Amino acid sequence: MKTALVLGAGGFIGSHLVKRLKIEGFWVRGVDLKFPDFSETQADDFIIGDLRDQLLVERVLDQKFNEIYQLAADMGGAGYIFTGENDADIMHNSATINLNVLEACRKRNSKNIFYSSSACMYPEYNQLDPENPNCSEESAYPANPDSEYGWEKLFSERLYLAYNRNHGMNCKVARYHNIFGPEGTWTGGKEKAPAAICRKIVIAGDKGSIEVWGDGKQTRSFLYVDECVEGTIRLMRSSFEGPVNIGSDEMVTINELVKIVAKVSGFEIKIDHIDGPLGVRGRNSDNKLIFEKLNWRPSQSLELGIQQTYAWIKSQIRD
Ligand code: NAD
Repeated sequence: MKTALVLGAGGFIGSHLVKRLKIEGFWVRGVDLKFPDFSETQADDFIIGDLRDQLLVERVLDQKFNEIYQLAADMGGAGYIFTGENDADIMHNSATINLNVLEACRKRNSKNIFYSSSACMYPEYNQLDPENPNCSEESAYPANPDSEYGWEKLFSERLYLAYNRNHGMNCKVARYHNIFGPEGTWTGGKEKAPAAICRKIVIAGDKGSIEVWGDGKQTRSFLYVDECVEGTIRLMRSSFEGPVNIGSDEMVTINELVKIVAKVSGFEIKIDHIDGPLGVRGRNSDNKLIFEKLNWRPSQSLELGIQQTYAWIKSQIRD
């Protein structure tokens, strides 16, 4: 039986990934500070523990796994990453996890590791024009991410690839772009734009108004979690190490995102623009490289993903 280790298995993407690996027949061990927030984990074995602790990391790597997915990170939406208040924690916690995991995997000769970097590592100067952001993989340098979260991702993706070069590891690096879907954080300050807008619209109701940070003309793309998991698994089992974008290239403004959610809800919604943390002006996934290397790219429409997510958030609020 094939075995997989999912680090960050109590998180949003990790818990979806565990479900998918179980469907494929893997024996799965999950590790996280917490169990998944919204459903019972499907992992065969789940260890609650802190991956900043090297001894814990060595303990969870008590065998050689066929596939290791490293998704654990200290992260959140714009309200967590861009205020500056959490910078030291974000950098220290995530970098420590990645240093620990790579070293323990090397000692165990467990070579196949997937690492989730982020589009937040792309330089700010290529993302000032909301109509034409450049997030092609080779545009990463000269580096200038607009957050410490992005700098830590850049450091760690280089760390994984350095272990490939120097220690014969087989690490794969993807740069995720705004993943969303059911069972993602939707309240409390760490939620991302699609979940926050769904929640606000459910609560506002017909002819209600919702607050949006900034003028709403900043652009983004959003990838549905099932397609993120598909891309992750395809990259893991390919011969390409990356880094490669895993994101949607259906770019929308935040105002357009509100319109899509309003359409799905059937409500008429007014937007109040207020000051708030914004991040870069424009961002979109460039999917040329993933298609070239994996002969696959995400294709599901944003509206379809919003339908599924809106229905789930509505059920959470009603319960
Ligand atoms: P998430 O916050 O839901 O999951 C991360 C998990 O890591 C959490 O469950 C958290 O408890 C766990 N974790 C944090 N510190 C830990 C520690 N010290 N020990 C053990 N576990 C710890 O986030 P997610 O959306 O599922 O993202 C997964 C990965 O993908 C992260 O690395 C994130 O940076 C990356 N990413 C996500 C997005 C997105 O839009 N969701 C975009 C770009 C990159």
